[in-house]
Amino acid sequence: MSFKVAILGRPNVGKSTLFNRLVGKKLALVDDTPGVTRDRRVHPAKLYDLHFDVIDTAGFETAAAATLQGRMRAQTEIAIREADLIFFMVDSKSGLMPDDKAFADIVRRSGKPVVLVANKAEARGAQGGMLEAWEVGLGEPIPISAEHGQGMPDLRDAVIAALGEERAFGEEDTVDEIAESEALIGEDITDPDAEDIPAYDETKPMRIAVVGRPNAGKSTLINALVEEERLLTGPEAGITRDSISVDWEWRGRRIKLFDTAGMRRKAKIQEKLEKMSVSDGLRAIRFAEIVIIVFDATIPFEKQDLQIVDLIVREGRAPVIAFNKWDLIDNPQEMLAELREKTTRLLPQVRGIRAVTLSAETGRGLDKLMEAVLGTHRVWNSRVSTGKLNRWLEGILAHHPPPAVAGRRLKIKYITQAKTRPPGFVLSTSRPDAMPQSYIRYLVNSLREAFDLPGVPIRMVLRASE
Ligand code: GDP
Ligand code: GDP
Repeated sequence: MSFKVAILGRPNVGKSTLFNRLVGKKLALVDDTPGVTRDRRVHPAKLYDLHFDVIDTAGFETAAAATLQGRMRAQTEIAIREADLIFFMVDSKSGLMPDDKAFADIVRRSGKPVVLVANKAEARGAQGGMLEAWEVGLGEPIPISAEHGQGMPDLRDAVIAALGEERAFGEEDTVDEIAESEALIGEDITDPDAEDIPAYDETKPMRIAVVGRPNAGKSTLINALVEEERLLTGPEAGITRDSISVDWEWRGRRIKLFDTAGMRRKAKIQEKLEKMSVSDGLRAIRFAEIVIIVFDATIPFEKQDLQIVDLIVREGRAPVIAFNKWDLIDNPQEMLAELREKTTRLLPQVRGIRAVTLSAETGRGLDKLMEAVLGTHRVWNSRVSTGKLNRWLEGILAHHPPPAVAGRRLKIKYITQAKTRPPGFVLSTSRPDAMPQSYIRYLVNSLREAFDLPGVPIRMVLRASE
């Protein structure tokens, strides 16, 4: 088990900048606006030979709990609880502020190991700030420059000193997990050796991403599912900006839930933030096995909803639709008929996609949603034996053979399943490039029906037979 680090400190001291440096990617949102980093995130990070997870936090804000700041503060308290080590950051360029001391008190009370980080040490006049930093009472300040990458070796040593060698050098698990899931993308499925397909493993945590337009109710849904105020929700569109993960269990099944930012942005000033968030959403989709797309049932099937489904299918993930805010629908019978018709017509690439009506606010329909998720996950993992496939193919060839092209009939020799997650098939044929798309679509739809594979992307690769 590796350890978890929370980077804490008042707004603008440079937490996100250090976070980015440790995580090695532009994941956190850096901005000069105080308090722009709003949510909690956990990401695998590296500091030389140390591997750990970083929880990036909102920073402590002193304000009443009814406000956004108050809620951010509550989030930070959760982060402190989950962290094994705290980086408490002060700004040696600006010097100490009253807030710093108040926050340092909270950190000290947590009893967690702390490394006091004095950032912006490269700035002119930082020397004075460095001396002041002692006054927060958290020991010796480690001077660093998050922006310029200075002081990192000292930071490494301070981590080891604070945790002890044994804790500090745990094995690295999260990084491998990500690498593994990303390796599934664009995988070459031309190897027809079906025996290599791994069996469905129910003991591994199922990775679920929750996506959808801003205000569709993603955060409310996740809160309702995990029954804890872990995510910020509110009427401000796009308040949940980054993807974060929550570990959870449903009926004994281990689950890792990802919340993503809303994928659309209206306000211009926010454009920069939103662009990063979209790629973050994509990242979450790639990380996930199942993607719950939250539709606002009062305004369903906006163009962007369809684009999200397309993206999920392209990435080979399995979608489940949640028609949320069903409590606001006056004519549920008619609405249901309309949604059914639209789902079938607008999403032919995932025929049979599971869609569930629910209210994240009242909690109705959540069990149905999770049943659909598990069912879809099973289909996404399913595998059909080569024997069954070829008996099916015989029937197809007898009744609906491929068309003739330029006077010559296309031949199909055999079919085999090369992979799962999503199901991928290899079709051995005389002339792969001559096979019409319409016939391939026909085959995929027939396969879907014959072997009960609704609602998941299906890959079909054609290979030249000798
Ligand atoms: P957070 O709100 O506490 O997460 O702080 P940010 O990471 O967003 O940084 C706040 C500002 O401080 C940004 O303008 C950063 O570019 C700047 N900053 C961060 N680290 C350093 C540093 O090491 N030196 C200097 N001079 N500025 C920094
Ligand atoms: P997000 O931007 O997708 O994370 O959306 P939020 O979870 O922040 O929800 C946006 C707004 O919709 C909030 O005001 C929620 O209270 C409200 N909302 C979410 N789910 C429901 C629901 O099932 N019914 C109703 N009536 N309102 C909901």
